[in-house]
Amino acid sequence: MDDVATKPAAPAAQAIPQPATDGFQLVIDALKLNGIDTVFGLPGIPITDLTRRMQKNGMRVIAFRHEQNAGYAASIAGFLTQKPGICLTVSAPGFLNGLTALAHATTNCFPMILISGSSEREVVDLVQGDYEEMDQLAIAKTMCKAAFRVLHAEDIGVGIARAIRAALSGRPGGVYLDLPAKLFPQAMDAQAGKNSLIKVVDPAPRQIPAPEAVQRALDLLKSARKPLIILGKGAAYAQADADIRVLVEKTGIPYLPMSMAKGLLPDTHEQCASAARSYVLPEADVVMLIGARLNWLLSQGKGKTWGGATAKTWGGQKFVQVDIWPQEADSNVRIDAPLVGDIGSCVKALNAGIGSGWPKPPSAWLAAVAERKSRNVAKMAETLAKNPSPMSFQSALAVVRDVVKANPDAILVNEGANALDFTRSIVDMYKPRKRIDVGTWGIMGIGMGYCVAAAVVTGQQVIAVEGDSAFGFSGMETETICRYNLPVCVVILNNNGVYRGDEKNAAGGADPSPLVFVKDARYEMLMQAFGGVGAHVKTPGELRRAMEEAIRSRRPTLINAVIDEAGGTESGRITSLNPK
Ligand code: ADP
Repeated sequence: MDDVATKPAAPAAQAIPQPATDGFQLVIDALKLNGIDTVFGLPGIPITDLTRRMQKNGMRVIAFRHEQNAGYAASIAGFLTQKPGICLTVSAPGFLNGLTALAHATTNCFPMILISGSSEREVVDLVQGDYEEMDQLAIAKTMCKAAFRVLHAEDIGVGIARAIRAALSGRPGGVYLDLPAKLFPQAMDAQAGKNSLIKVVDPAPRQIPAPEAVQRALDLLKSARKPLIILGKGAAYAQADADIRVLVEKTGIPYLPMSMAKGLLPDTHEQCASAARSYVLPEADVVMLIGARLNWLLSQGKGKTWGGATAKTWGGQKFVQVDIWPQEADSNVRIDAPLVGDIGSCVKALNAGIGSGWPKPPSAWLAAVAERKSRNVAKMAETLAKNPSPMSFQSALAVVRDVVKANPDAILVNEGANALDFTRSIVDMYKPRKRIDVGTWGIMGIGMGYCVAAAVVTGQQVIAVEGDSAFGFSGMETETICRYNLPVCVVILNNNGVYRGDEKNAAGGADPSPLVFVKDARYEMLMQAFGGVGAHVKTPGELRRAMEEAIRSRRPTLINAVIDEAGGTESGRITSLNPK
């Protein structure tokens, strides 16, 4: 029987107030205070409860099947939104899986923060064999712009503020934030906790270019007989779309968009010189780079262009380079007019110096570019009009091109080798930041992570054009796409292998060639397995119908588009990079 009289006396009231907040809550509050409401990650020890509590506190937690895909999602969310994309991983193996994406974000200048749980410092530093022991901070430091570790709950506000500022200011990049398991349950007074948080003021300050640097750039441009503007993904990231358009149109200079800058102005713009790329690069006498680096994608400003073996070597031009990072200039060739500042401010300053009397480029140059363009466009139209059986890359992509034209707000994700090269040159983009792809490293694996992030942060329809090999890197995220019911239409250009599917084992043995896959694989069933829509198509008509239905329904869809297995070339357009 329960007897009140025999119950032990209640403990005396505590003199110290009960702690009202803890490390878990402070991480959440610090992120939310800075407008970060979405994270991409994979729960597990020691961050499982953090993901639960984030969701409980109104944050969107998008849980993936592999951390690398969550990391790629975070990196592209950073590019699309100008807010650092957050990737949340468990310790050691989860951390390592996220690291590829962290390095990718840094290389591509995308703002991203990899937040990783970690094991106990005391044990790790004495190498005593903790659960998932690893000195994560030391490893991450070599792959990102900045790396921080927080040991005490009262420092969480500072740690997150520093991570945000490092990711966004100057040249954006990847940041690592190490949060040991012991930090999360640390308790502290709620008011003191609140006071310790920092709302970062002006995390990406404008950087106004020096007036003399602006004048130098304008003088050089004005002196050009054959000027060219190259727009890179830095220009797309900067969201200075209207000013960039004014600059291009006021000067009348032909421009080339790098692949993720496609659509900054519509690819159908009369000044767009994409279809004459291998002509304009070697021929131009003054090239203005806006948010583009002279790396391998531009043959370091001095090599052969992607026009193929017959293309002329370019180089010897004079360069204007608009970039936020002063050290970028002269990285490969002399930059005659470096213009250091944020692209918005630089382009505004250039526009202010371009009066109504600005001379249009010589008509001989414009006519030569236009002539090359129309010749190549006609050639391409001929190829696209063919209807071979099985489908070719081109006949399938002619359909994608029409569908994208009819849905210019859709975001196009693209990866592969031939699937990448052909899509980039065939599918026109009409609006800024609608094309996201393999980026600076030309890597594969970004596909489904990018699809998830693009759909989540923009709410727009996503269309992914994937090589069958590229899709394999992240294919399991079809489950993630279905779980969140995202409007993603994946088109796999399936030629049964890496580059192509008809290669044989050189030794004649039983094993298949390392470059081929199971023939006639039914990738569409993967999406069906998780409740999405699958389609197996063999003709352009079937492909068109399946894509249109996917966009109409906004349901997760995977279209397995069977193309000629002999259709691809090794490494696509970068065959020359293979050592011989
Ligand atoms: P692409 O691959 O399209 O040629 P890159 O990634 O090579 O483009 O170049 C992007 C460049 O843009 C980097 O050098 C980076 O420093 C620069 N950049 C990024 N954001 C800004 C910005 N807001 N203002 C100025 N430059 C920027």
